[in-house]
This record gives sequence, structure tokens and C-alpha cells, in this order.
Amino acid sequence: MAKIFPHAYFKNKIIPIEEANLSIASSAVLYGLSVYTVFPISINEKGGFAFRLKDHYQRLINSAKIIGIDTFEPNWTYDKFITAVREIVQANNLTESVFMRATVHVDELVPGTRSRNLDTTLSIFIYEAKPIVPQNGMRLKTSVWRRIPDYAIPSRAKVNGAYVNSVLAKQDALDSGYDDCIFLDINGHVCELSAANIFIVKQNTLITPDTSSDLLEGINRQTILEIAEDLKIPFKVRSVDLTELYTADEVFACGTSSFVAPVKEIDARKIGNGEIGDITTKLRQRHEEILSGTNSLDEKYLFKLI
Ligand code: PMP
Repeated sequence: MAKIFPHAYFKNKIIPIEEANLSIASSAVLYGLSVYTVFPISINEKGGFAFRLKDHYQRLINSAKIIGIDTFEPNWTYDKFITAVREIVQANNLTESVFMRATVHVDELVPGTRSRNLDTTLSIFIYEAKPIVPQNGMRLKTSVWRRIPDYAIPSRAKVNGAYVNSVLAKQDALDSGYDDCIFLDINGHVCELSAANIFIVKQNTLITPDTSSDLLEGINRQTILEIAEDLKIPFKVRSVDLTELYTADEVFACGTSSFVAPVKEIDARKIGNGEIGDITTKLRQRHEEILSGTNSLDEKYLFKLI
């Protein structure tokens, strides 16, 4: 279990995390009707920084909009969101880098299966920044569960209830002795892992599934593409077949809670020579440097909170 910090933001104020509770009759509890995002807060000698805060805020807004939750955006400007994020960082006296989870809950009681014109509340809590997958070579399994298609529950919206799909796939992988899964879409194309995006390297070109492949438009995925551009690593964003993974020179996953995690085996097939590849290593080092906030050239990625 991850360590959770004692002060939460809930119903417009800072309160002890044990008191931040939703009603069992709310749509958030009844239907999983909440949207969320998770982002790193880095603490270093220059202060405390949120990684790509505006992008996370925008994804929260977009997720709510896709699902038809229409009372969040009018009540939560970016400035108000920043104030809440700052308040919770200050309340917890952070001395280490952490993850922050911000969730918009529909907390109206028993409104039935609808989404518009209902009460919403923002919750934020902080927990330790521990990776959710091994960092030195993961073993993945193609899931028996398919990714929910855009026409059922869109993966580009980060909806709490939709994570049952990820739970099924992750547990199936764990039950089979693997670290995580590869989700395929209904046509058999590669989407992502249970909670991370996927990249492959073939003949020195970086490839990742395009955003119409039923995946979450990960903020780290976007960052990796930007790093590749800066480092002049050729990249392609396109549909990817499962068997392309088997013959890739390198495969890695990326996401807030996965960081950049190399993959050494998929479905009992060794990836490349089974070692962490050169391009993965270069991208990982640069990604780590950006997140640490130690290079002043990276300020465009980091929002100063304290
Ligand atoms: N896909 C899924 C399904 C996820 O849950 C996550 C984690 N948020 C990601 C991809 C990676 O997204 P990000 O880089 O924004 O953390």
C-alpha cells in the first residue's frame, strides 16, 4: 500500500484525509461517475513543481466534457485549480517528490443514470511516488480482455468507472505471473498497458499507437514524443500490430506511475536481446531529468507551486 499524506482537499477546503468521504448514494460511488488525473510534484532545492499542470487540468476538463459532466468547468478556472493544488502542497509540508491525484466526483445523491446539471466536487490527495511496474525490465502478457472501444466508454476520457477494464486486464496478467498486460482493441491492434502508454523501437525509429487506437492520451506519451524530436530520434505515430511488438528491438511503457519502464518479454518472447535498449535509455534519462526539475531549461514543463 502506498503512503498517503494526511491532508486532503475536499469540498473547497483542506481537511484530514479520513474525513474526505463521499456518500454511498452519490453517482460517483453508484456508477463510478468521476473523472481524474494524476501528476508528479517534484521537490528540489529550488522549490516544489507540478509537471505539466495546465495539460493535466485540460485533460480533466476534457474528460468531464466527453462524459457530459457539465458543472465542473464553469466552477473551476485554471487559477482556482492552481490555488487548490498549492493549498494542499503547503498543508502537507512536502519534503519529497510525490504524486497528486485530482478527481472530479459527481456527488449528487441518487439522480439516476445521467450526467448533466448535477453537483460535482473536486477532491485532491497526495501519495508516495512509487512506480506501479518494475523499472528494470517488465514481462507483459496480451490480455484476454479487450480495450473498451471509443463507442462504448472512450479511453481518452479518464473516467473512474472505466478502470474496471484495466483492473480485469491487470489482474489477469498478475494471475498469469506477468507484470502487466498489453491491451488490444476490438480489431487486434495494440492500444496500451493497463495504466501506461506503449512505445516500440524498430530500426532506430520510435513508434507508438496513434490516438484513435483506444488509448489514454498520456501526458508522458506526449513528453516522450517531444523529447524524441529534441534528440532527433525519428518517430512515427500509427496503428501497431501485436506481432510488431514481438520483433521490436526495444519496447517500453510510459506514464506518471510507470515512469519510463523497459519491457524485456512479451507473451514468452524475448524483446530484442533482453537488455534495456539504447533509445529507451536515452529517452528515460531525459524524462527523469525533466521530472526532477534540476535543469532550468525545462521550466516550460514545470509549474512552480512553492
Ligand atoms: N493509459 C492509461 C490507461 C493510464 O491510466 C495512464 C496513467 N494515467 C496512462 C496511459 C499514462 O498517462 P499519463 O502519462 O498522463 O500518466
